[in-house]
Amino acid sequence: MSAGERIEGHCLCGAVTITLDDPKPEVEICQCAMCRRWGGAFYAAQTGANPKVSGEDLITVYRSSEWAERAFCSHCGSGLWFRFLPTGNRSFSAGLFDAAAAHGIEKEIFSDERAEWCRLEGDHPRQTADEVIAEAKAAGFSFG
Ligand SMILES: [Zn+2]
Ligand SMILES: [Zn+2]
Repeated sequence: MSAGERIEGHCLCGAVTITLDDPKPEVEICQCAMCRRWGGAFYAAQTGANPKVSGEDLITVYRSSEWAERAFCSHCGSGLWFRFLPTGNRSFSAGLFDAAAAHGIEKEIFSDERAEWCRLEGDHPRQTADEVIAEAKAAGFSFG
């Protein structure tokens, strides 16, 4: 996407705002059961450079597994980010950013865990849980 672009997002109540530079033009969808429980359907991950977050006082960070944490606004409950702890990499909930509504899908992961009512159209790549975990292991990460 165009270098130099900046997108701004905010939670439902507006207490937390997030800006990202050079946002990726496509989101990654996670259909795993944890993301479904967390957000109600699937998690759409938006990434970009130089994330700036304001409203820290109202942010709760929840350690959702040995290798990840998820953050949400303590006032309105909006999901904010997912951080993969082994790398420190963080993605943000695409729904926070109006501009991201125009973004396409890069890929769908844990596609075999999706709910029957959560079928996304398009011919983007889809990876099953086994494939995602195999890829992570190949990259040197271990999962309990
Ligand atoms: Zn909020
Ligand atoms: Zn997930």
